[in-house]
Amino acid sequence: MPLAGEICDVLIIGGGPAGATAAALLAERGSDVVLLEKAAHPRFHIGESLLPRNLPLFERLGVAEKIAAIGVHKPGAEFICDEMGGRVAFPFALSRVKGFSHAYQVRRAEFDQILFENARAKGARLRERVRVVAVAEGAGERLSVRAESAEDGALAFAPRFVLDASGRETFMASRLGLKETDKHNNTAAVFAHFRGVSPRHDDMAGAISIHFVRDGWLWVIPLPEGLTSIGFVGTAAAFKGRNEAIADFFLARLRESPSLWARMGEAACVSPVTSTGNYSYRARRAWGDRWLMIGDAFAFLDPVFSSGVLMAMTMAEQGAETALAWLADPARGAQLARRQERQIRAALDRIGWMIHRINTPVLRELFLAPRNTLGMRDAIISLLAGHLRPERGMAVPVLAFKSIYYALAAFRRLSPQPAR
Ligand SMILES: Cc1cc2nc3c(=O)[nH]c(=O)nc-3n(C[C@H](O)[C@H](O)[C@H](O)COP(=O)(O)OP(=O)(O)OC[C@H]3O[C@@H](n4cnc5c(N)ncnc54)[C@H](O)[C@@H]3O)c2cc1C
Repeated sequence: MPLAGEICDVLIIGGGPAGATAAALLAERGSDVVLLEKAAHPRFHIGESLLPRNLPLFERLGVAEKIAAIGVHKPGAEFICDEMGGRVAFPFALSRVKGFSHAYQVRRAEFDQILFENARAKGARLRERVRVVAVAEGAGERLSVRAESAEDGALAFAPRFVLDASGRETFMASRLGLKETDKHNNTAAVFAHFRGVSPRHDDMAGAISIHFVRDGWLWVIPLPEGLTSIGFVGTAAAFKGRNEAIADFFLARLRESPSLWARMGEAACVSPVTSTGNYSYRARRAWGDRWLMIGDAFAFLDPVFSSGVLMAMTMAEQGAETALAWLADPARGAQLARRQERQIRAALDRIGWMIHRINTPVLRELFLAPRNTLGMRDAIISLLAGHLRPERGMAVPVLAFKSIYYALAAFRRLSPQPAR
């Protein structure tokens, strides 16, 4: 069969943090990479709070200074529950893993554009306003990718490997029927940008604030130039029977947290109020013959611990290695893909354990009165900083934390099952 379409080594679907990271790392190593992005940067995206563990990745990509210049310094996270009368700060500086004391809050339009342009500077061939519409077997060792461009109409490519970084569009997982929604985390979110929200002035200035409320939680993320991102993530119960406009629903939820409402004063909403539903999912398989999913294209977790961008970029870094290995030796590539999938699933399970219980009174209580017995508080901070792999010395504190959770839940005759 003759080769139909533009030839390249690796074709990447999507130019968010996962796609742009993989493109930069592959191009740097000499691969001929094509990245197709259906939108055009800069474009709005939610997911503005980053984690300390992101920073070494920025160094490796050579964008650390640019990210620091557009970001608000984030020293940690604070959790507040008006109903339980508690507020607790988790400064990253106390993490068990030393050397990761801050992160950044960013406008994703700027952040994603920096990563995207970095990939271009490293030699990746980037195309915007081009939507991938089909991936199929091609001639010889190549796949066949069809795309539609706003300017150029139908396009065809013949890559040797495809990285699916299409985010929540889940290009491969949806088409192959591999997507499984997480029944334990059937939440939805409503969010907007505000101007005029009172900033924090103490040593946690710049931190993300998480306010626990009925049937969900609210985030407050300070962004550059006086902007603040605020969102509500609610369980199905929170949205059941909603008949008012989404903006009115959102305002009513903000009012339910007196501590947050006190910061709103004369604040004005300066963006559309947006909602997104059907939250967490994973694909049953992360890879196949000559393709691999990275970032949200593979899995999405509730954002309470701000882990999405870090997970996406980590999968991209590993995915670039897998693609390179596959190009050299498919058997070795498959071996790496298998190992990568195992590691990512384990990380998702570790953080998922807490996320699934975040709306239970017992976990909220444990969060709001953190004890450092056996290093439990510092282990939580490590998790919040993005240390998702089992680090030395973490096993005992994590086990202790879980044991106390189960004991308390049993004692209170609460089901230790995740909130639904
Ligand atoms: C409400 C909410 C709050 C969040 N808060 C946080 C947070 O505070 N911190 C955090 O780290 N994460 C957060 N996240 C998660 C974070 O947004 C994602 O994990 C992250 O953006 C994943 O990066 P990605 O590159 O995999 O996907 P994306 O950033 O979504 O990028 C995918 C790209 O692929 C493009 N694309 C899709 N389909 C095609 C196609 N067929 N052809 C071509 N291009 C295509 C899209 O246009 C997009 O640019 C949040 C998510 C939600 C929903």
